[in-house]
Amino acid sequence: MQNDFFVVEIGSFNQYKYAWFETTDSANYSNEAPQCPTCSRYIGPLEWLPPYDVVIKQPRTVGDFVSGVGGCDFLASSKLLSAIEESRLSGIAYKYPITVRKMGTTKTSIQRIPPTLTGIKFVRSKTRVNFDKMGVVWSKVPSDDSCKLCGPNGTLKFWTSVAIDQKTWSGDDFFHAINFPGALFASARAAAMIVSGEFSNVRIVPCEQSSYSFSA
Ligand SMILES: [Zn+2]
Repeated sequence: MQNDFFVVEIGSFNQYKYAWFETTDSANYSNEAPQCPTCSRYIGPLEWLPPYDVVIKQPRTVGDFVSGVGGCDFLASSKLLSAIEESRLSGIAYKYPITVRKMGTTKTSIQRIPPTLTGIKFVRSKTRVNFDKMGVVWSKVPSDDSCKLCGPNGTLKFWTSVAIDQKTWSGDDFFHAINFPGALFASARAAAMIVSGEFSNVRIVPCEQSSYSFSA
C-alpha cells in the first residue's frame, strides 16, 4: 500500500510573528551523536543533556510549535503535547522538560509568564529519501562509493520535491530520514492529527510539494 508523507515546517516562514527559542550558555551536550550503523558517519546532532533551559525570543506570541537553535527538534505547547500523547502516534524519541529562563529582552516582555513547553525529538530512523525522484541539483556531486544507507553523501544545492523511499519506511509516524537529516517528517496519520488540531506556527506540506534552495 502506498503511504503519503508530509514535511513538518515550523516557524521559519513567519519568523517575526511567532516566538522562537535558543538554548542558554549553560547548555550541555554529550560527546556522542547518532551515527550511521553502516559507515559510522554522524547523522545527527550531539545529545542535549540537562539543564533543559531555553530563552524565548520575540515572546509576544508563542505558537504551539516553537522552532529554535540547538537542543531538540522543536518545543511543543501543552495543547500540542496532549494531542501527541493522546494520539499514540509513534516516533517521538524523547520529551525534554523545558525551563524557560527568560522571555525576550524588553522590559515588558521579560515580565510575561512563560508558557509550559516540552522539547520534542523525533526518532532518527533508517527511512531514506529517494534523491532520484526529487529534482535534485548537487553543489558537490556524491561519489559512487557513497554509503548505501545514509548516502549518497554529496552537498545539495536545491530540490524541487521530497520523496520518501516507501520500502525503507520504518513505520514511524514522526521521523528523520537517515539520508536527509534536516527535515521533520510526518506520516499521513500524524499529519492529519496536526491539521485537525489547528496548531499555530506550523505548516504541513505534502512531500511532493516541498522544495528548497540554498542561496549561494
Ligand atoms: Zn552511512
